Amino acid sequence: MNTCDKCHCYTRSNSPICYNCYIEGKRYIEGFTNYSFEKTPLKFIKGHIGEVIIQNLFTSLGFIVFRYGIENNLTYINEYLSGSDFSDTELNILTTRPDLLILNKEKKCVYFTEIKYRWNGVFNYEELGENYKYKNTFIIILSKYGFNCIKASELKEIGTISGRDSKKYSLSENKEFNLDIGFVKLLEEQSFKIYESINTITLI
Ligand SMILES: [Zn+2]
Repeated sequence: MNTCDKCHCYTRSNSPICYNCYIEGKRYIEGFTNYSFEKTPLKFIKGHIGEVIIQNLFTSLGFIVFRYGIENNLTYINEYLSGSDFSDTELNILTTRPDLLILNKEKKCVYFTEIKYRWNGVFNYEELGENYKYKNTFIIILSKYGFNCIKASELKEIGTISGRDSKKYSLSENKEFNLDIGFVKLLEEQSFKIYESINTITLI
Protein backbone atom coordinates (compact mmCIF):
# COMPACT_ATOMS: atom_id res chain seq x y z
CA MET A 1 0.00 0.00 0.00
CA ASN A 2 1.71 3.15 -1.17
CA THR A 3 1.18 6.52 -2.81
CA CYS A 4 3.08 7.59 -5.90
CA ASP A 5 5.54 10.40 -5.07
CA LYS A 6 4.87 12.06 -8.41
CA CYS A 7 1.13 11.82 -9.23
CA HIS A 8 -0.03 10.78 -5.73
CA CYS A 9 -2.19 7.96 -7.06
CA TYR A 10 -2.59 4.78 -5.05
CA THR A 11 -0.24 1.93 -5.94
CA ARG A 12 0.14 -1.59 -4.54
CA SER A 13 3.83 -1.44 -5.32
CA ASN A 14 6.34 -0.40 -2.68
CA SER A 15 8.20 1.60 -5.32
CA PRO A 16 8.42 5.38 -4.87
CA ILE A 17 6.46 6.14 -8.05
CA CYS A 18 3.74 4.27 -9.93
CA TYR A 19 4.36 2.31 -13.11
CA ASN A 20 2.68 4.98 -15.29
CA CYS A 21 4.99 7.70 -14.02
CA TYR A 22 7.91 5.35 -14.46
CA ILE A 23 7.08 4.82 -18.16
CA GLU A 24 6.30 8.52 -18.75
CA GLY A 25 9.63 9.41 -17.16
CA LYS A 26 11.32 7.18 -19.75
CA ARG A 27 12.16 4.54 -17.16
CA TYR A 28 14.17 6.92 -15.05
CA ILE A 29 13.77 7.87 -11.41
CA GLU A 30 16.11 10.23 -9.69
CA GLY A 31 18.09 8.44 -7.02
CA PHE A 32 17.36 4.96 -8.40
CA THR A 33 19.79 3.30 -10.73
CA ASN A 34 18.31 -0.19 -10.87
CA TYR A 35 14.61 0.13 -10.79
CA SER A 36 12.54 -2.46 -8.96
CA PHE A 37 9.70 -2.63 -11.51
CA GLU A 38 11.97 -4.49 -13.86
CA LYS A 39 14.82 -5.75 -11.75
CA THR A 40 13.02 -7.36 -8.83
CA PRO A 41 10.43 -9.48 -10.66
CA LEU A 42 13.00 -10.76 -13.15
CA LYS A 43 15.40 -11.61 -10.34
CA PHE A 44 12.76 -13.81 -8.70
CA ILE A 45 11.71 -15.33 -12.03
CA LYS A 46 15.30 -16.28 -12.82
CA GLY A 47 15.73 -17.82 -9.39
CA HIS A 48 12.53 -19.87 -9.71
CA ILE A 49 13.48 -21.01 -13.22
CA GLY A 50 16.82 -22.21 -11.86
CA GLU A 51 15.05 -24.29 -9.23
CA VAL A 52 12.68 -25.77 -11.80
CA ILE A 53 15.53 -26.67 -14.17
CA ILE A 54 17.49 -28.47 -11.43
CA GLN A 55 14.35 -30.11 -10.07
CA ASN A 56 13.56 -31.48 -13.53
CA LEU A 57 17.13 -32.59 -14.07
CA PHE A 58 17.02 -34.78 -10.97
CA THR A 59 13.46 -36.09 -11.38
CA SER A 60 14.25 -37.02 -14.99
CA LEU A 61 17.15 -39.12 -13.71
CA GLY A 62 15.00 -41.02 -11.18
CA PHE A 63 15.55 -38.95 -8.04
CA ILE A 64 12.65 -37.77 -5.90
CA VAL A 65 12.73 -34.02 -5.31
CA PHE A 66 10.94 -31.98 -2.67
CA ARG A 67 10.77 -28.21 -2.94
CA TYR A 68 11.68 -27.34 0.59
CA GLY A 69 12.69 -23.65 0.50
CA ILE A 70 10.74 -21.25 2.67
CA GLU A 71 9.54 -19.32 -0.38
CA ASN A 72 7.83 -22.44 -1.72
CA ASN A 73 6.19 -23.79 1.42
CA LEU A 74 5.79 -20.71 3.57
CA THR A 75 5.41 -17.85 1.14
CA TYR A 76 4.99 -14.45 2.83
CA ILE A 77 5.84 -15.77 6.29
CA ASN A 78 9.17 -13.93 6.14
CA GLU A 79 7.35 -10.62 6.48
CA TYR A 80 5.85 -11.67 9.82
CA LEU A 81 8.80 -13.41 11.47
CA SER A 82 10.53 -10.29 12.73
CA GLY A 83 7.61 -9.42 14.99
CA SER A 84 7.45 -12.91 16.50
CA ASP A 85 8.97 -14.27 19.71
CA PHE A 86 11.34 -16.65 17.91
CA SER A 87 15.00 -16.64 18.89
CA ASP A 88 17.64 -15.92 16.25
CA THR A 89 18.46 -19.64 16.09
CA GLU A 90 14.81 -20.58 15.56
CA LEU A 91 14.42 -17.92 12.89
CA ASN A 92 17.61 -19.07 11.21
CA ILE A 93 16.31 -22.65 10.95
CA LEU A 94 13.19 -21.41 9.20
CA THR A 95 14.62 -18.81 6.89
CA THR A 96 17.65 -20.73 5.66
CA ARG A 97 15.89 -23.95 4.70
CA PRO A 98 17.62 -25.50 1.68
CA ASP A 99 15.73 -25.06 -1.60
CA LEU A 100 15.48 -28.68 -2.70
CA LEU A 101 15.62 -31.97 -0.84
CA ILE A 102 16.80 -34.65 -3.23
CA LEU A 103 16.21 -38.29 -2.47
CA ASN A 104 18.20 -41.09 -4.05
CA LYS A 105 16.05 -44.22 -3.62
CA GLU A 106 18.78 -46.69 -4.62
CA LYS A 107 21.38 -45.31 -2.25
CA LYS A 108 18.71 -44.53 0.34
CA CYS A 109 20.07 -41.10 1.05
CA VAL A 110 18.84 -37.55 1.04
CA TYR A 111 20.71 -34.44 -0.10
CA PHE A 112 20.05 -30.84 0.78
CA THR A 113 20.63 -28.43 -2.08
CA GLU A 114 20.62 -24.70 -2.47
CA ILE A 115 19.97 -23.49 -6.02
CA LYS A 116 21.48 -20.20 -7.18
CA TYR A 117 21.43 -18.42 -10.52
CA ARG A 118 24.42 -16.19 -11.32
CA TRP A 119 25.03 -15.38 -14.99
CA ASN A 120 28.78 -14.92 -14.37
CA GLY A 121 28.93 -17.96 -12.10
CA VAL A 122 30.45 -16.08 -9.16
CA PHE A 123 29.05 -17.01 -5.78
CA ASN A 124 30.40 -16.12 -2.35
CA TYR A 125 29.92 -18.12 0.80
CA GLU A 126 28.67 -14.97 2.59
CA GLU A 127 25.69 -14.85 0.25
CA LEU A 128 24.28 -17.86 2.11
CA GLY A 129 23.66 -15.50 4.99
CA GLU A 130 25.10 -15.04 8.44
CA ASN A 131 25.43 -18.18 10.58
CA TYR A 132 24.61 -20.52 7.73
CA LYS A 133 24.08 -23.85 9.48
CA TYR A 134 23.94 -26.46 6.75
CA LYS A 135 27.53 -27.44 6.07
CA ASN A 136 26.64 -30.54 4.03
CA THR A 137 24.31 -28.75 1.66
CA PHE A 138 25.29 -28.82 -2.00
CA ILE A 139 25.20 -25.38 -3.57
CA ILE A 140 24.24 -25.69 -7.23
CA ILE A 141 24.97 -22.61 -9.33
CA LEU A 142 23.47 -22.12 -12.78
CA SER A 143 25.48 -19.78 -14.99
CA LYS A 144 26.46 -19.15 -18.60
CA TYR A 145 29.28 -21.64 -18.04
CA GLY A 146 26.94 -24.47 -17.04
CA PHE A 147 26.01 -25.99 -13.69
CA ASN A 148 28.50 -25.95 -10.84
CA CYS A 149 28.10 -27.81 -7.58
CA ILE A 150 30.02 -27.38 -4.35
CA LYS A 151 29.42 -28.40 -0.74
CA ALA A 152 28.78 -25.51 1.65
CA SER A 153 31.71 -26.60 3.86
CA GLU A 154 34.08 -26.52 0.87
CA LEU A 155 32.78 -23.16 -0.29
CA LYS A 156 33.37 -21.84 3.20
CA GLU A 157 37.03 -22.81 2.86
CA ILE A 158 37.64 -21.28 -0.55
CA GLY A 159 35.28 -18.31 -0.02
CA THR A 160 34.22 -17.84 -3.64
CA ILE A 161 33.41 -20.05 -6.58
CA SER A 162 33.66 -18.65 -10.09
CA GLY A 163 32.06 -19.91 -13.28
CA ARG A 164 35.47 -20.60 -14.74
CA ASP A 165 36.16 -23.23 -12.07
CA SER A 166 33.63 -25.30 -13.95
CA LYS A 167 35.64 -28.46 -14.55
CA LYS A 168 36.49 -29.16 -10.92
CA TYR A 169 33.06 -28.27 -9.59
CA SER A 170 30.95 -29.30 -12.56
CA LEU A 171 27.63 -30.85 -11.52
CA SER A 172 27.95 -33.42 -14.31
CA GLU A 173 31.24 -34.65 -12.79
CA ASN A 174 29.97 -34.77 -9.20
CA LYS A 175 30.79 -38.20 -7.69
CA GLU A 176 28.07 -38.09 -5.07
CA PHE A 177 25.21 -37.56 -7.52
CA ASN A 178 26.77 -39.62 -10.33
CA LEU A 179 24.54 -38.10 -13.01
CA ASP A 180 24.21 -38.86 -16.70
CA ILE A 181 26.80 -36.44 -18.13
CA GLY A 182 25.17 -36.16 -21.57
CA PHE A 183 21.82 -35.31 -20.04
CA VAL A 184 23.33 -32.65 -17.77
CA LYS A 185 25.07 -31.10 -20.80
CA LEU A 186 21.75 -31.02 -22.65
CA LEU A 187 20.02 -29.21 -19.79
CA GLU A 188 22.99 -26.83 -19.49
CA GLU A 189 22.49 -25.88 -23.13
CA GLN A 190 18.75 -25.41 -22.67
CA SER A 191 19.31 -23.42 -19.50
CA PHE A 192 21.79 -21.15 -21.29
CA LYS A 193 19.22 -20.40 -24.02
CA ILE A 194 16.45 -19.76 -21.47
CA TYR A 195 18.54 -17.32 -19.43
CA GLU A 196 20.01 -15.68 -22.51
CA SER A 197 16.50 -14.95 -23.80
CA ILE A 198 15.41 -13.55 -20.42
CA ASN A 199 18.46 -11.31 -20.40
CA THR A 200 17.34 -9.76 -23.69
CA ILE A 201 14.08 -8.58 -22.06
CA THR A 202 15.93 -5.92 -20.11
CA LEU A 203 19.41 -4.56 -19.99
CA ILE A 204 19.28 -4.42 -16.20
ZN1 LIG B 1 2.40 8.19 -10.49
